[in-house]
Amino acid sequence: MAKVITFTNQKGGVGKTTTAAAFCGAFVAKGKKVLAIDLDPQGNLAFGLGADDDEYTIHDVLIGKVSIHEAIQTTHNCDVIPSNILLSGLELELSSVGREYVLKEKLASIMKFYDYIVIDTPPALSILTINSYIACNDLIIPMTPEILSLQGIAQLKDTIIAVKKYYNKSLNLRGILLTKYNERILLTKEVEELASIVAGQLGSSVLKTKISVSVAVAEAPAHKMSIVRYAPRVKASRDYVKVVDELYGEELR
Ligand code: ADP
Ligand code: MG
Repeated sequence: MAKVITFTNQKGGVGKTTTAAAFCGAFVAKGKKVLAIDLDPQGNLAFGLGADDDEYTIHDVLIGKVSIHEAIQTTHNCDVIPSNILLSGLELELSSVGREYVLKEKLASIMKFYDYIVIDTPPALSILTINSYIACNDLIIPMTPEILSLQGIAQLKDTIIAVKKYYNKSLNLRGILLTKYNERILLTKEVEELASIVAGQLGSSVLKTKISVSVAVAEAPAHKMSIVRYAPRVKASRDYVKVVDELYGEELR
């Protein structure tokens, strides 16, 4: 049975997509069977993993136009279900009862084919985000160590608490992952402390491994590869391999 991991933060530009791709790359490097689901209407994850967005998308799956099997593409990285801009209209297209559970239901029939299903989410707290929280086992919050990153985190916190309480009791917030990390910047430590307070309120913590700033990160999607595959030697790649080991090392060995 697959373990489903969602990357979330209603702020854009914090490294959700980069991190989702990197985790896929790290799992594949360990010989695992991986499916990446792009739940962001911008479609960056699927693009960066080499999927074709002219095919069926997760939008088609969620509205019941095609089966989830028909929307899975096999790329040179891993299996991928792409997204497109139509996904942003989903809120209006789903029927009102049970709309939070659609993704979970769709995943049920493919859970046995994968070791890990990785979900990238949009920078919003929408029906898509809620669906991803309900469908997953593990939640990881990528965050940049800037003071503005803490803005809006209370709202994220309330959403996670509500989903845990009403919909998915076994939802496991694995931690806040600090990205674009540069310890030489003075404010970083201060923000890290604040982030750790927030994480504590959610019964979680800031992950020990931080992801360093590396210029190669921006180049990887153009080459249709995750950073861990495109530039395995750069610090950010080594950090990603390390954090995957911190979180999933035991089951990967
Ligand atoms: P999100 O999905 O949260 O919007 P992205 O993963 O798209 O965030 O990252 C936002 C931008 O930051 C991208 O241009 C990406 O290349 C860059 N970026 C992400 N992580 C790093 C890193 N560790 N070092 C340098 N740039 C990064
Ligand atoms: Mg993104």
